[in-house]
Amino acid sequence: MRCSSASCPGEYEQHEVVRAVRQGSRIIVIEHIPAEVCNVCGDVLFTPETIERLEALRQTTAPPAGSVPLYKCAESA
Ligand SMILES: [Zn+2]
Repeated sequence: MRCSSASCPGEYEQHEVVRAVRQGSRIIVIEHIPAEVCNVCGDVLFTPETIERLEALRQTTAPPAGSVPLYKCAESA
């Protein structure tokens, strides 16, 4: 499929991506998300089903599958 950006000649390819989202005051990380990623500009498309699944995971209280190190680029006050 052609990239949705008019000026981009790229094509979407199937990939698995990682997203970090805020859940209240904390950040949760979701990996192995199926997505279409443009091979030129990196634009990412999710199916409506995947967006629903991400939204459900953002609300989940289930125990996480693992933990990740968290680093901050900028010093916060
Ligand atoms: Zn593109």
